[in-house]
Amino acid sequence: MEPSATSMYALIEELFPICRSITGDGVRETLRIVGKHLPLDVVEVPSGTPAYDWSVPKEWNVRDAAVIGPDGSRVIDFRASNLHLMSYSVPVSARMTLDELRPHLYTLPEQPDLIPYRTSYYTERWGFCLSQRQLDALPDGEYEIFIDSTLEDGALTYGECVLPGAEPDEVLLTCHVCHPSLANDNLSGIAVLTWLGRWLAQRDRRFTYRLLFIPGTIGSLTWLSRNEDVAGRIIHGSTIAGVGDRGHLTWKRSRRGNALIDRTMIKVLGDRDESFAVQDFSPYGYDERQFGSPGFDLPVGCLMRSPHNTYPEYHTSADNLDFVSPAALADTLGLLETVVEALEADRRYRNLSPKGEPQLGKRGLYPSIGGRTAQVEQMAMLWVLNGSDGTRSLLDIAEWSGMPVAALHAAAQRLSETDLLEAL
Ligand code: ZN
Repeated sequence: MEPSATSMYALIEELFPICRSITGDGVRETLRIVGKHLPLDVVEVPSGTPAYDWSVPKEWNVRDAAVIGPDGSRVIDFRASNLHLMSYSVPVSARMTLDELRPHLYTLPEQPDLIPYRTSYYTERWGFCLSQRQLDALPDGEYEIFIDSTLEDGALTYGECVLPGAEPDEVLLTCHVCHPSLANDNLSGIAVLTWLGRWLAQRDRRFTYRLLFIPGTIGSLTWLSRNEDVAGRIIHGSTIAGVGDRGHLTWKRSRRGNALIDRTMIKVLGDRDESFAVQDFSPYGYDERQFGSPGFDLPVGCLMRSPHNTYPEYHTSADNLDFVSPAALADTLGLLETVVEALEADRRYRNLSPKGEPQLGKRGLYPSIGGRTAQVEQMAMLWVLNGSDGTRSLLDIAEWSGMPVAALHAAAQRLSETDLLEAL
């Protein structure tokens, strides 16, 4: 197992117990831990700050919550799983019968062993989530309800890491940090983006990379409303969500449909042996729908493994540490690294000896040993030379030839060291 696979999984294990929501100390603690691995600016935006048609909500924090049964035991216990409490539940201290309590209880009758994940960010109410089996076992009688939470003016917290490049054009990579103990839906994205950031920080960068660790929806709206000047510099982007499960990778296209990020992602996915899926854009899903709102129309798609809402573990207690695998995390990270390399490598070249095929042999470029690798190297050089009439980029040539972007890039680098090719 690669070291990054183990490290990403360990980060998920560390973050898993924290009770996160769209605001609050759980997000701050999460960003503090991510900040041990990556230089992160933590930004606090006060409650009530407008963000287009929205505004930053009150900050929610919770210390404890439980439903105490007629026998005095904590029959529904926030300490056992933070999924038991509906996110943004207002403070409560009350006694009531089971029938009075029922409208505040949420279960999944078709998945009777699982706890659902429920939120109520924009309507002030309270609720508990539990398995259907747990509910069925509750006896009649009087119950004590207590939710030791606060919902007051505070701030929305997000993390931002900017890694400057040689060019001002930016690549935006984001994940959401607002889900509590759910391993695939948000922790996998946090782990992969953190390790991608570490990798980016160590390499030469042509573009500037901006990594956002933000609460879903309100986080991207808040960020966009404060960074419209930055948004204008974004030339490629992806949200990263649900990338630790064992399903194959899925690319959801940006609103533009065939932006360079869409073409690069699909080409690099196709260069691998693993199966993958491509979805068209839709104004639903993760924060690509905010970056892809018509007022921005940024080239930002979404990288997932199993798409949200299509797997039975989604938004339930079954999205746990067993549901994500170190190998899947490493595979996603590897894909993203290859995509970054392809984006950075994409440029046009000019063949300086365009009349007839130049002699590779007399320049020491003709492989002296045969075999499959040598054949790929030779074909890549012939494609780069033939395709480089000054109008086609490496990605154009990769799509045209069917050859991997990485092989063409290596060929272009080799040829650029001779009198045959110049970068434009
Ligand atoms: Zn979710």
